Amino acid sequence: MKIAIIGGGPGGYVAAIKAAQMGAEVVLIEKEYIGGTCLNTGCIPTKVLLHSTEIYHQLRNEAEDLGLEINDLKVNWRNLLTRKELVATQLVEGVKNILRTMNVEVVRGYAKFTSTKTIEVSLTAGGKRSISFDKAIVATGSKSIIIPVPGHDLEGVITSREAMSLEEIPESICIVGGGVIGVEFANIYSNLGTQITIIEMLPELVANMDQEIVNSLEEALLTKGVKVYKSAKVLRIDRSGKELQVTAQLGDDPFQVIAEKVIMATGRKPSGDGLGLEEIGVKVDRGAIQVDRLFKTDVDNIYAIGDCTGGVQLAHVASASGLMVAELIMGERMAMDFRTIPYCVYTNPELASVGLTERDAVMKGYKIKVGKFPMYGNGKSVITGNVRGMVKIIADENTGEVLGVHIAGNSATELIASGAVAMRLEATVQELITTIYAHPTVGEAIHEAAESVFGRAIHIP
Ligand code: FAD
Repeated sequence: MKIAIIGGGPGGYVAAIKAAQMGAEVVLIEKEYIGGTCLNTGCIPTKVLLHSTEIYHQLRNEAEDLGLEINDLKVNWRNLLTRKELVATQLVEGVKNILRTMNVEVVRGYAKFTSTKTIEVSLTAGGKRSISFDKAIVATGSKSIIIPVPGHDLEGVITSREAMSLEEIPESICIVGGGVIGVEFANIYSNLGTQITIIEMLPELVANMDQEIVNSLEEALLTKGVKVYKSAKVLRIDRSGKELQVTAQLGDDPFQVIAEKVIMATGRKPSGDGLGLEEIGVKVDRGAIQVDRLFKTDVDNIYAIGDCTGGVQLAHVASASGLMVAELIMGERMAMDFRTIPYCVYTNPELASVGLTERDAVMKGYKIKVGKFPMYGNGKSVITGNVRGMVKIIADENTGEVLGVHIAGNSATELIASGAVAMRLEATVQELITTIYAHPTVGEAIHEAAESVFGRAIHIP
């Protein structure tokens, strides 16, 4: 079986390794960096910046409370950017090594379909190469959307990609878009003392998550001096000397934000265009490659996975679909459970969610019971000085089955795995209650939230 994979991100490279493990002859074509957006300009670099700036912020503001005395704490921005590059390089080199060991052939260049059996690659090193395949997997990812308001192309109006490599820490930033990427950048730069303004068109920040846990983040951002405008629309951007002037509208009232940089965090568009797919019979809708639930396109031997399908744009979803398609092609069927996809935001507090929100559960007609436990009642959260947030569990009132777990707090993004496993195993709240959690851990808050479904949490009056 010869499999050609276009795109070396967490969708493509994971599919390549899995297919090679299962005995396929695999060619992986990548036009830019192995590791894709995630390792090079997405998940990993942003988390390096979040990690260091969070430590800086905590030490600067809470050292005394923590019993520490720190003189002359400083950010070395150059060194921090170097660390960001080093971490990404280490992970990318690791992936390249595994691909080499698994005999995956990596071809550098831009791939385009010429038929349902061949791809032509415009090689990075020059020239062209034709690659034939039995099955192909397209994993070409997505790119930032820049809303076409007047002034969107001015110098200083940037996307997440440039925002993680700025020459200097700006005095002020206006972030257009209060989704995951927007609030993560708000966290990074507000930790460093930059004046941040977020302008979000929807009435809520991170609108796809349970708003009770998002409120914990919004409160934290406001405490750091971040200004948040919701239900507000950016109308135009102008340059005035060294600064940018963003004109927006809140209801009927126009307002202006002056900032050194404007980050467009207004979503990402799937990159399914320009691959010659429509010419060979694959439907592509505004860049989104159309697939069925098994990620198969309209052409029988061509699959598409990850961001380029226009589905959930998360690295672990791209990887999970890559694993599934590789196994499917190699004759083994692995199911993908869309109900148990975790959603995470790596801010302070961290936010993490799996399953139905309270609002979604009610809309779907479930009779629910909700348990909540605040982090200020959790010993470990008090120890680390991270008392903002809560665990919230949504359960089916009739069966007790866990329908959703939502966490705001320290280690929320680690803890959510236990919520995902519980949901995958169709656990009930009773089963969460009879699970023993180590003490002192933030995980105990899950136990307490489960108890509180029946009004019986221990560490809260
Ligand atoms: P990508 O990682 O985008 O990889 C696609 C690859 O295809 C690219 O390397 C590209 O060069 C290549 N390619 C495209 N066209 C061609 C062609 N014609 N020929 C050859 N190669 C081609 N997700 C998370 O789960 N957690 C996070 O914390 C997180 N943080 C993020 C932070 C930021 C700032 C951004 C922008 C994204 C973040 N994401 C995060 C989203 C995550 O990066 C994507 O969901 C993930 O990378 C998608 O994987 P993919 O394999 O589908 O595509």
